[in-house]
Amino acid sequence: MDLARSWRLKDQRYRLEGTVCANCGAKFFPPRQVCTECKSQNLTPHEFDGHGEVYSFSTVYQAPLGHEGNLPYIVGMIKLDEGPMVEAQITDVNPSDLKIGQRVEMVTRKLREYGENGLIVYAYKFRPLPNAN
Ligand SMILES: [Zn+2]
Repeated sequence: MDLARSWRLKDQRYRLEGTVCANCGAKFFPPRQVCTECKSQNLTPHEFDGHGEVYSFSTVYQAPLGHEGNLPYIVGMIKLDEGPMVEAQITDVNPSDLKIGQRVEMVTRKLREYGENGLIVYAYKFRPLPNAN
């Protein structure tokens, strides 16, 4: 296995890495090569801080094959403080306790573990933060 490639992939999974337009300041996640606001191609990498709020969510009771152990789980649209929307699982909360507008932060969670070669796949999820008010 290509160790260097594995490390690069890991970096992407650990952080919310997108791009920012050097011309107009618009931020994108996932990363884009062309700005949708001003059509500039002068975009540079940007690491999002992972804070935002729940824009919408739904509870998933039927999982794809291989994910049955984690039911039910919540998939939400997170509106990042820095602008973009991110679709991700929301963890550490009961569906009945979750509300639109809930403050959340990104966490890195183990997504899958392959027994034979020991490869562990991580992904970002979001978990609730105490509301400020
Ligand atoms: Zn732009």
